[in-house]
Amino acid sequence: MKNTLYDVIVVGGGIAGYTAALTLKSLKRSCLWLGAELFGDKLTRAEYVRNFPALIGDGKEFSARLAAQMEHEDISFTQGRADGIYAGDPFTVTVGDIMYQGKAVILATGVETAGAVKGERDFLGRGVSYCAVCDGALYRGKTIAAVVSSEKFREEVEYLAGFAEKVHAFCLYKNASFRSENIIVHEEKPRAVEGGLRVERLITGEGALSVSGVFFLKNSAPPAALAGGLETEGDAVKTARDGSTNIAGLFAAGDVTGRPYQYVKAAGEGLVAAYSAHAFLNGARK
Ligand SMILES: Cc1cc2nc3c(=O)[nH]c(=O)nc-3n(C[C@H](O)[C@H](O)[C@H](O)COP(=O)(O)OP(=O)(O)OC[C@H]3O[C@@H](n4cnc5c(N)ncnc54)[C@H](O)[C@@H]3O)c2cc1C
Repeated sequence: MKNTLYDVIVVGGGIAGYTAALTLKSLKRSCLWLGAELFGDKLTRAEYVRNFPALIGDGKEFSARLAAQMEHEDISFTQGRADGIYAGDPFTVTVGDIMYQGKAVILATGVETAGAVKGERDFLGRGVSYCAVCDGALYRGKTIAAVVSSEKFREEVEYLAGFAEKVHAFCLYKNASFRSENIIVHEEKPRAVEGGLRVERLITGEGALSVSGVFFLKNSAPPAALAGGLETEGDAVKTARDGSTNIAGLFAAGDVTGRPYQYVKAAGEGLVAAYSAHAFLNGARK
């Protein structure tokens, strides 16, 4: 349990989150900038960035420049994947059993461009989960599946295997391997999640597989799965021009608010959300 109460918690380690943290610093607001990883693949892996002002180079060059600016401006980053954002006065953001508190929150968690599996959203909270640490223990002794977007989630799958009798890991990357013997690797994307009141089976290329739950382990979970009651249009958070959402004190920026998925738009929205959080704190929380 962390006792610090921040003015703003920024969730998401990409360019939107970074710009929000940088702007909050210039506004002299205390800020916890939290992200699953610093900058992340979408920044570091760009082959060539053609459309960010004053930048000539690839994603590595971009992130190196950001890192240099971060150091120069004394911006700190806290690594952690948020698994819950709870509205209140103050807000609570959880990372496993760690709780962070902030008077306002900026959500900048990006978007998962790979399409959802049919039925994935319908069974959210009824056997579909995006968080191994939060829900793994619910499946003690059961057979479950995990749809694993990258090697980065290997530990989460192993964690699930510590509870479940068997984990069918549908790995969307090549050469997946795990330590636990009760993890069965499949190299395909399942076609659908099906069931009645709860998840009962996963439809794959080889037929139906009986499972009690399915974990989707990916960089950006749908925002509504993170913050209950958050209004969305598809997977995009519904925002006003100032980045505000339907939850007072919760702002959103970057790809998470919808297209176009571009750095400049994400950075611009990070700045706008930071100013809006600042105004919110000036008005509502003097
Ligand atoms: C290969 C590639 C090349 C691209 N090239 C260009 C280009 O040249 N020009 C351009 O304008 N755009 C480009 N884009 C698009 C650009 O990457 C995105 O628009 C931009 O990164 C969006 O920034 P963001 O901060 O909103 O989201 P992201 O960059 O996706 O950052 C969000 C971060 O939040 C983290 N996160 C997610 N969930 C949580 C959580 N629960 N808790 C904590 N952290 C979390 C993720 O790990 C991620 O690092 C490219 C994208 C790709 C994939």
